Amino acid sequence: MISLIGGAIISVVLTVAAVTQIPVLRFKALGTILPMTENLKVMPLKDGVFWVSGGISNTGFVVGDKGVIAIDPQMFVSIAKKELADIAEITPKPVNVVILTHSDPDHINGLPAYPHGVEVIAQENVKRDIQHLVADLNSNGFPPSTEIKNYVPTRTVRGTESLLLDGVPVLLLHTAPAHTDGDLAIYLPSQKIVFAGDLITPAIGLYPGIHLDKHGSSLGWVESMKAILALDADVYVSGHGELLSKDTLRNRLRASEQRRQDIKTLFDEGKTLGETKSTLHDVSLKGNAAQFPTFVETTYQELAAEKYQRAR
Ligand SMILES: [Zn+2]
Repeated sequence: MISLIGGAIISVVLTVAAVTQIPVLRFKALGTILPMTENLKVMPLKDGVFWVSGGISNTGFVVGDKGVIAIDPQMFVSIAKKELADIAEITPKPVNVVILTHSDPDHINGLPAYPHGVEVIAQENVKRDIQHLVADLNSNGFPPSTEIKNYVPTRTVRGTESLLLDGVPVLLLHTAPAHTDGDLAIYLPSQKIVFAGDLITPAIGLYPGIHLDKHGSSLGWVESMKAILALDADVYVSGHGELLSKDTLRNRLRASEQRRQDIKTLFDEGKTLGETKSTLHDVSLKGNAAQFPTFVETTYQELAAEKYQRAR
């Protein structure tokens, strides 16, 4: 998700020329999002694991044997630099690794704050997205600095992979396309903490945000949620906002599965998108996310695209 700060305006151009076409969502920046560093706070979680509250998106830091592993570098280089200064007050160890939960600009554009040569780990589709970004800096709607070319992921994961990173056991999970097709959840089994980015961001509303332009999927989201809920974890750090419990996420999954079923029932009955939205009392997303398509809109389009594919 992209948060809007300081009166910024984001226009989501929803191309639904025909529901029988694969839909395209495009983010277009029309205003300026202001970096905010004054409210950043590094919070300890457990045994060398920290998260930073405030800023635009959440960042995690894990202190390893020789260095620090960072998770998601924020949207602005200025915020990422402030976070690096704050973590340097906690440990003298250098940040050697950055893991990306997905490729949205509010989670990757701060990368150039990190030292050159830092290892960048991501799902392989995030590498593809960043390579596209390097070739066309406007392709994510919020152009990062040209320096992003030095931060193309150096290590990629396709599915789920267990690693020992700088002495820290880490499980990287990519179950299916969900929020995007490059989602990666980072599970720290020793501390029972999961960083899951916008796979679990509740700030967007009761139901998940699916980026159809990045090949996200509501069914894949259900599958991915089940995978992270099956982990022996106590704390879930989302892409934005407060820490979440397993119970909160279970309720979110249950509500979203029911919602998806309701949308499918109406779609199968031949209802239009407008009729489906009206029957299900679909409302715009909360606050700053109000200009993003709703779960009813994206799910309806997914079902339409699937039907079109089957009919070909
Ligand atoms: Zn986000």
